[in-house]
Amino acid sequence: MNLPILPTTVIGSYPRPKWLREVIKGFRTGRYDAEVLKEAMDDAVIAVVRDQEEVGVDIPSDGEIRRDEMVEYFAERIGGFKFYGPVRVWGNNYFRKPAVIAKLQYLKPIVVDEYLFLRKHSSRPVVKVTITGPYTLTDWSFNEYYESREELAFDLARMINTELKKLEEVGCLYVQVDEPALTTHPNEMEWAVQAINKAVEGINMKIGLHVCYNNYNILKPYFDVLRVSQFALEFANRGFRDLEVVKGLTKELGFGVVDVHSRRVEEPEEVVRALNKLFSYVEPEYVYVNPDCGLKLLPRGIAKAKLEVMVRGVEIVRKELSKKGLTEIPLRTKV
Ligand SMILES: [Zn+2]
Repeated sequence: MNLPILPTTVIGSYPRPKWLREVIKGFRTGRYDAEVLKEAMDDAVIAVVRDQEEVGVDIPSDGEIRRDEMVEYFAERIGGFKFYGPVRVWGNNYFRKPAVIAKLQYLKPIVVDEYLFLRKHSSRPVVKVTITGPYTLTDWSFNEYYESREELAFDLARMINTELKKLEEVGCLYVQVDEPALTTHPNEMEWAVQAINKAVEGINMKIGLHVCYNNYNILKPYFDVLRVSQFALEFANRGFRDLEVVKGLTKELGFGVVDVHSRRVEEPEEVVRALNKLFSYVEPEYVYVNPDCGLKLLPRGIAKAKLEVMVRGVEIVRKELSKKGLTEIPLRTKV
């Protein structure tokens, strides 16, 4: 299967519509039942897929609309986790940090239904499903059962591998493993990378790895070791500095071109300039274009506007590339 050159995509999360937040509140206070919540979630996914497709995104996600938080969602659905009260993380944000209290158990498919619903409601040939990676799940949980964090990460990798196989069985083509914690304890990198490889072992779908707001110099030595075909990295937030870090990358780069930490809507020209700068380091045939990270903390209108700017910028660059005969790339699967 081929995609247009510089396929545009999202990292995953998208702002929940305001009305959905009201329904969620109402569900928590008992005003609405699970059926009302389910219908609202379904409708919200359809709405945010539409947002992405309207502005021309090639590979949409379901906006992770059904997930409150990227670790909690998986921990709630894998046997062996328990939740204590919320712990405070960055500023005034609270996070229900899970604890592993027993041997992990794969209970049932976690995101297969999310994929099938997205597949049904997207007009695009390829969609993206995101999964939180074994290292981040380990790092953001309390370990009260396993001998070591390493042992926990490898058992989580086993759970994720089972889930990836189920996604592959139902026809999913592209999964992104999210590892925002990956380089935060450099002394654990060796086994963290091996845990990710264990998670994707024997999987033939396209696998991307998203790592954001990390020290990419710590990640760089593992570009070739990691058995993934793409690295989705954040560059707009760092003003497109440090691009040398991807020089010589022999895999695809998902290039972050809009800053999700700023409400300023960029101009398409900024995207064009960033891409042209990148092409000194990575060939256009190996570049996907995405925002730096998930969009969920932005107002919905700004999130959509940023996606539109991203697509408009890419369209300008595509015109130039088509003069050199570059119009399409193959959907590469895992290396
Ligand atoms: Zn991110």
